[in-house]
Amino acid sequence: MFVIIFGPPGAGKGTQAARIVQAHPIPQVATGDIFRKNLREGTALGIESKGYMEAGKLVPDELVSKIVADRLQQDDCVAGALLDGFPRSLPQACFLDAWLAERGMAIGLVVHLVVPDSVIVERMGGRRTCTNCGATYHVSVSPTKVQGICDRCGSQVIQRPDDNEATVLTRLATYHEQTSPIVEHYRALGVVADVEGVGSIDRIGDHVIEAITKAFPV
Ligand code: ADP
Ligand code: ADP
Ligand code: ZN
Repeated sequence: MFVIIFGPPGAGKGTQAARIVQAHPIPQVATGDIFRKNLREGTALGIESKGYMEAGKLVPDELVSKIVADRLQQDDCVAGALLDGFPRSLPQACFLDAWLAERGMAIGLVVHLVVPDSVIVERMGGRRTCTNCGATYHVSVSPTKVQGICDRCGSQVIQRPDDNEATVLTRLATYHEQTSPIVEHYRALGVVADVEGVGSIDRIGDHVIEAITKAFPV
């Protein structure tokens, strides 16, 4: 099963992805996490993507698509993957569809988390992110058990440099211009489930799992 968890920055994609992979044993492929790992390790990819990320702009399509294709080629993705943060533009979506089609596969579901911009700006101010595993927290809504330490892996939890208000506003504009048209692309293919993304994390999680169960009946 190939599933896309989709929505604006801060919609709760990472939060819900963690739940999905507990219920369904598929790897989570989060392009933002891949870039941040490369940045920490000082690789060429990290250096190339840094400026785009800091500015809240998209890393060029060819670069991102190649990274994702390399990742999906690995053995753990044969039965599927949960894509988080990719695709983020129509060219990326077309690349992904073609790559899967060449292998006799297709996107089975796009879970579209619907969250208004005003809620996003509030959420991002309180987001904290693990520097190691990418787990996300919120200072008041879902804090770490021990302040500053990731519940999942014990590493340091920080505020991402691009989670400042000005960059969040740029990322939202980028989302509306380049990313949100993807929903209509997949809607035409009949694979979009719209899920209200405002409310308790548990309740949203129930709706997300429901949508997946409906799309992939056992
Ligand atoms: P994304 O991966 O889409 O950028 P995250 O999952 O990192 O979003 O969530 C963004 C921030 O909002 C985090 O601080 C997270 O803890 C918080 N958050 C996630 N879901 C909810 C929710 N339903 N209500 C309030 N805050 C939430
Ligand atoms: P968020 O969780 O807030 O949605 P991500 O961690 O997914 O943010 O992405 C952080 C940054 O990494 C983006 O602002 C962008 O610069 C870059 N990035 C991540 N995924 C992609 C992608 N698929 N295409 C282009 N740029 C990307
Ligand atoms: Zn962690």
